[in-house]
Amino acid sequence: MEKKNLDWENMGFSYMQTDKRYVANYKDGKWDDGALIDDANIVMNECAGVLQYSQSVFEGLKAYTTEDGHIVTFRPDLNASRMVDSAKRLEMPPFPEERFVDAVAQVVKANAAYVPPYGSGATLYIRPYMFGINPVIGVKPADEYQFRIFTTPVGPYFKGGAKPITICVSDFDRAAPHGTGHIKAGLNYAMSLHAIVTAHANGFDENMYLDSATRTKVEETGGANFIFVTKDNKVVTPHSSTILPSITRRSIMYVAEHYLGLEVEERDVYFDEVKDFAECGLCGTAAVISPVGKVVDHGKEICFPSGMEKMGPVTQKLYDTLTGIQMGHIEAPEGWIKVIE
Ligand SMILES: *Cc1c(COP(=O)(O)O)cnc(C)c1O
Repeated sequence: MEKKNLDWENMGFSYMQTDKRYVANYKDGKWDDGALIDDANIVMNECAGVLQYSQSVFEGLKAYTTEDGHIVTFRPDLNASRMVDSAKRLEMPPFPEERFVDAVAQVVKANAAYVPPYGSGATLYIRPYMFGINPVIGVKPADEYQFRIFTTPVGPYFKGGAKPITICVSDFDRAAPHGTGHIKAGLNYAMSLHAIVTAHANGFDENMYLDSATRTKVEETGGANFIFVTKDNKVVTPHSSTILPSITRRSIMYVAEHYLGLEVEERDVYFDEVKDFAECGLCGTAAVISPVGKVVDHGKEICFPSGMEKMGPVTQKLYDTLTGIQMGHIEAPEGWIKVIE
């Protein structure tokens, strides 16, 4: 298979149309067989459920070229099961998990020419999503849904290595108790846009959201979970029913414990103790780990000892081990890597 002639080394993080996408439709109570198609556009009724009441969920994962030339994905079964959870919470029919994993493989294989070569730092981003497509005007779940997966090649999230970022404690809430913070739904992002635009206008890279019930505990940012490292090298992550269970974060906690032999804790993290941590990072598929150098709470600065120049040493080890597993230089735990071809 011949690769497309793209500038792999200098790709940004933006949408580029690729050749094929996967589409399946749900109608009369069942999913059809699904197929790869060429058309990147969707035609739907003006009253489609997704357009009126935002009935939509999504996932995000990547395909990589490993050192020995295979194309692989990382734990797609967890994306499949998380999308089932998201769908159920929005009263949508779950897309079967085995079919999800198979559809990811099909669409990656069909766009193999766009999977960036090993060593370029770029990857093929995979976006599965599902939405209500039939007309809905009275408030109720749609009867018909479309599940799609497209892919787009993306550059490394941080060009020239990850410099620590500065985040601010947000005045806005991301998720309500018993709300939808734990599912991957577009609606959580729609309402976070004002908060992120505001943070950027004030000179910050990201928002730290606190729990909306008490505003004393750390939750997450708009699209990434937190990890903290204590001064005695324990890896701590907030436990909360209103954060999105990041696959990257869950993998990092496993790597910390089983590969690096570190103590790990998933527990309430009070904002008051953030000042005592040695390192802080944001975990998500896009950047794997983005180091945080500074947290600003209404003018009060918390500067982590790891500084503003580079990742802290434990964060760096976690990053190197996880990306080593993804790229195939470090042996992966059973079932983490799905070889596509
Ligand atoms: C997708 C997402 C993450 C990161 O999850 P990964 O599975 O690691 O990509 C974290 N927080 C939110 C709100 C998200 O939507």
